[in-house]
Amino acid sequence: MSIILKEKVTNLKELCEKVCFKITKDDKIISSSPYETCAFCGKETNVRKDSYIGNRKTYIDGAGQLCTICYSRIYK
Ligand SMILES: [Zn+2]
Repeated sequence: MSIILKEKVTNLKELCEKVCFKITKDDKIISSSPYETCAFCGKETNVRKDSYIGNRKTYIDGAGQLCTICYSRIYK
């Protein structure tokens, strides 16, 4: 592989990881959502993984991230 091509591939990998894909060492692509999943029901929440925990309204210490539905069921 030429150096230029190798650089392009590396840049592409970095870009993919930013846009929510993970590429493993053997070049397999795993889609990984940038959003947290609910600790109770396992559904995807609207909270980004890179968001600050202190700002998350539906995050519970010890339990983790909850979706709005589970959160409202618990805290009603
Ligand atoms: Zn839930």
